[in-house]
Amino acid sequence: MKTPQLIGASWKMNFTAAETRLYLRTLLPLVDDVRQRDLFVLPPFTSLWVAREELAGTAIAWGAQDVHESVSGAHTGDISAPMLVDLGCRYVEVGHSERRRDHGERDRQVARKVATAIECGLEVIVCVGESHRMATSTARSVVLRHLGSILGAFGAQELNQVVVAYEPYWAIGAGAGAAEVDHVAGIHVGVHDWLGARSATRIRVLYGGSVSPDTCSDLLAQPGVDGLFVGRAALDPVAFARIAHTSLPPEVLSGEGKIVRVMAASTR
Ligand code: PEP
Repeated sequence: MKTPQLIGASWKMNFTAAETRLYLRTLLPLVDDVRQRDLFVLPPFTSLWVAREELAGTAIAWGAQDVHESVSGAHTGDISAPMLVDLGCRYVEVGHSERRRDHGERDRQVARKVATAIECGLEVIVCVGESHRMATSTARSVVLRHLGSILGAFGAQELNQVVVAYEPYWAIGAGAGAAEVDHVAGIHVGVHDWLGARSATRIRVLYGGSVSPDTCSDLLAQPGVDGLFVGRAALDPVAFARIAHTSLPPEVLSGEGKIVRVMAASTR
């Protein structure tokens, strides 16, 4: 059976607990007909308890945006994998370019975070990407080098707990635009080849970087793209719902007219 596509959002440092509750109560009815795709959200640490309450019994998974590489100890302000597991997180993201930029994180540390998170039973979303625009073949080498440093020590069984997010740094955030679809396809096929050589054939490789309701359909149609990882566009639950519905054939949508309602709401 084909692994379902995965569409997720990181809210970064946005939304208080009350805002999280409002967001999720808006989102849930808009996506309750999306059954053929897996969805997840990554709220800030301080809102995870709200996600646990609001998403209990729903099909939307949730998790955290970072984790420390140690399971406990003298690490003021940090959060450990056992703490996330205890809360009920399914996912944790590691290696985001903003962690690299703001906290000086490097591949070796990211690899330790992956190891700890996997050992604790979390599914790990590993972000990799090139830092600036370059030819696709060069970018592919950069991305595969990152993958080698971060995931090279893991076997197929551990890799099954991994989701790879290809996120070119230059395509992320305000003022940026999504990478060209040919570029995205070239990297994703390369990542799948790398994973396939390690017998990790069921890993989903997401594209992230300025995904929006306007760009998502073309991006999702590229070879090797198994889903999308959304930043700022997903801060609007209606926009995230539109992305979640991207290109789904009408017959798999149970709520008749749902897309139309979502589209109408998003243009108000
Ligand atoms: C991200 O930071 O992971 C991201 C994809 O952000 P944006 O969609 O805002 O570019």
